[in-house]
Amino acid sequence: MSPVSLHSFPRALLHIDCDAFFTSVEQALNPELKGRPVVVGKERGIVACASYEAKAWGVRRPMALHEAKKICPTLVCMPSDYETYSLVSKRLYSILRTFTPDVEEYSIDEAFAELSGLRRVYHASYEEIALKIKQTVEEELGLTVSVGLSLSKSLAKICSKQKKPAGFTAVRGFEIDAFLKDMPTERVCGFGPNTVALLAKHGVRTVLEYIQRPEAFARKLLGKIGSELWHELKGDAVYPLLTAPKEGQATLSKTKTFTPSSDDKDFVRAQLLRNMESAFIKLRRHSLRVKGIGVYLTAHDFSTRGLYADLTRPTASTMDATAFVTALFERVFEAKTRYRRTSLVLADLEADREAQPDLFEDACRIRATREISKAVDQANALYGKHAVHLAATDCLRRFGQHLGDRGDVAQRKLAALKGENFRQRIRIPVWNLRLKD
Ligand SMILES: [Mg+2]
Repeated sequence: MSPVSLHSFPRALLHIDCDAFFTSVEQALNPELKGRPVVVGKERGIVACASYEAKAWGVRRPMALHEAKKICPTLVCMPSDYETYSLVSKRLYSILRTFTPDVEEYSIDEAFAELSGLRRVYHASYEEIALKIKQTVEEELGLTVSVGLSLSKSLAKICSKQKKPAGFTAVRGFEIDAFLKDMPTERVCGFGPNTVALLAKHGVRTVLEYIQRPEAFARKLLGKIGSELWHELKGDAVYPLLTAPKEGQATLSKTKTFTPSSDDKDFVRAQLLRNMESAFIKLRRHSLRVKGIGVYLTAHDFSTRGLYADLTRPTASTMDATAFVTALFERVFEAKTRYRRTSLVLADLEADREAQPDLFEDACRIRATREISKAVDQANALYGKHAVHLAATDCLRRFGQHLGDRGDVAQRKLAALKGENFRQRIRIPVWNLRLKD
């Protein structure tokens, strides 16, 4: 019996793991992919992630795509979009942080969260809190997760793997031995194939057999890690939660190359501001805000100049960013230079919470720009991306070169007559928004 068996949860640690993360994100963002066998990794020609529908056909990672297509002829192959995956990941962490401040960003689709001491806060059992977290994440991200709850990180991680997809497994102190009775040692994170073979040689095949040996056995055979895992697997947590957010991971960038290159200042600025509009639409779609913005211009000879600066206040508002981006542009742009590309990078992303404005800031204006962004997003959802846009990017309508994010052109856009853009064709009025200060 474990020494902690009298208590059900002396500590409560949660491990959350998204199911088939990359393909689930694609399916959440493109509902027409739901229920279909999907893989991502097209750009490398291999399966980087397979949806459960694809797995049912026998498609596995890292199979070559042509092989995967042979066994599943209806397979949908998508290029990986790591920027979007990391934004969804950022959102996952921020949802968890609304429940508890102690969250470890373990990997792009996995996290640990400390629930100890929260029963009184939520007037609920640890199992109920864990299920509430699971439900909230699934609703907000539109994908399923598997959740494990136990007394240590190592145990919680085994739990989340127990029932996939969309599973929930909680193992309390007195249930540990029964849970680990038939658990093969390879299920332990930290026991690689060599360790598993070595343990088998010493007659240890299940995790229970491992923790029933004296600690000295674990230490002698596997050193410090062996002893740490021995404690962890008995429900005696040794590994702390590493709660510092992983810095500099999530960035969002939008780039636009145009031919022919141009030295027309209004045109180049408009291209950059259109990058900004697109980037901020995506930022808000993922409920994030930004603290630093970079502006980069690539000249005809491929030389690139840029400037990066921190904002005095994080924002998700296109209006807020416009003056800032324009100021950066003014410093980077050189007259009589032909430019072929503009890029905008949003860095230092964080969850967009309603923040207490600084004493010296205009709270009304902050609220107003927020409301405007919301209204613009709603109008664009109805009438098409960029239907409502900044007056400064209006000149781009003459060029009709703004394609979808991945360069795919919708049929309705191709159907336009010469000199006519698709919005004119479907008779949507063009609204220009000017914000008075
Ligand atoms: Mg996963």
